[in-house]
Amino acid sequence: MDCLFCKFAGGEIPVEFIHESENIFAIKDINPQAPTHILIIPKRHFANAPELAKNEGATLSEIFMAAKEIALENGVESFRTVFNTGADAGQTVFHAHLHLLGGRKFAWPPG
Ligand code: AMP
Ligand code: ZN
Repeated sequence: MDCLFCKFAGGEIPVEFIHESENIFAIKDINPQAPTHILIIPKRHFANAPELAKNEGATLSEIFMAAKEIALENGVESFRTVFNTGADAGQTVFHAHLHLLGGRKFAWPPG
């Protein structure tokens, strides 16, 4: 399968992991939308967050715990977490990933 995040997970394409465990890793987004913009990614391939929840719920929970930890490491106490699910919602990489965004104010509703 030609999946960018699987290639990161497997080391086929080198990238800096700013956090890693047995089941997840985190990288800086290449096109940051906030001063802190980190992607937290399961190592196993799931197309989106609901698929991850259905098949590996404990990893979804671990992703959110890592989000809080990584935010604090970056001096961010108030943050936004986003899973885009489906192209119309803005998903472009079809391997589940949580966006962790912080370091600025965010508008509501989101665009
Ligand atoms: P989404 O649009 O929700 O699927 O999010 C995909 C994210 O992956 C976008 O925010 C991209 O900027 C990011 N991205 C794409 N390619 C890379 C890359 N090579 N390294 C880091 N982040 C990437
Ligand atoms: Zn994948």
